[in-house]
Amino acid sequence: MPIRPILIHPDPRLKTVCDPVPDMSDALRRLADDMLLTMYDAPGIGLAAPQIGVMSRVLVMDCVKEEGAAPQPMALFNPRIVAASDETSVYEEGCLSIPEQYGEVTRPRLVQVEWMDRDGNPQSREFDGLWATCVQHEIDHLDGKLFIDYLKPLRRQMITRKMQKLKRERARGLA
Ligand SMILES: [Zn+2]
Repeated sequence: MPIRPILIHPDPRLKTVCDPVPDMSDALRRLADDMLLTMYDAPGIGLAAPQIGVMSRVLVMDCVKEEGAAPQPMALFNPRIVAASDETSVYEEGCLSIPEQYGEVTRPRLVQVEWMDRDGNPQSREFDGLWATCVQHEIDHLDGKLFIDYLKPLRRQMITRKMQKLKRERARGLA
C-alpha cells in the first residue's frame, strides 16, 4: 500500500505527540518512501507520519517548486530544531490534512535542524525560505500541532466546521 490515505482534521491522532523512532530499519525506510509517494501524489511539499496515522517522529518534504527543476526529496527521522532566528517571515500555509484552507503564519525565518537520515547517520542543516516554513510546519505535526492553531480562534473554528462537513460528505461518498 505505497500511497496511504491522509487523515483529515479533526482527528485525535493529529493532536497527539509522536514517539521518537528507534534505530534505522528497512521498515522505517519503507515508511519514508510511502510518505514521499503519498506527498507527491497529493500533491504537497511536506508530510508528517501522523498524517497517515503513524505516530512516529518522521517527516518528508520537497520544497522545490520551479517547473522542471530536479526534485529534492528529504526524509527526516527524529528531527529537532536546535536554533531559530529572531527574524521572522510570514507564509500563507496550507496542509494536506486541512484541504483547501489557508492562513498566514509567522515563524522564524531561519532554523537549524538536526535529524537522523535514512542511513541512520546524524545530519544538521540550516533551512531558510519555504524550506524553513515547511520543516517547522511538519515538526509541529510531530508535536500534535496544526497551522490553524496559530490563527485566531474564530477562524480556526470556521475551518474546523468546514472540515467536519467535508468528512461527513466523504463518509457518504459525496466528496
Ligand atoms: Zn500539515
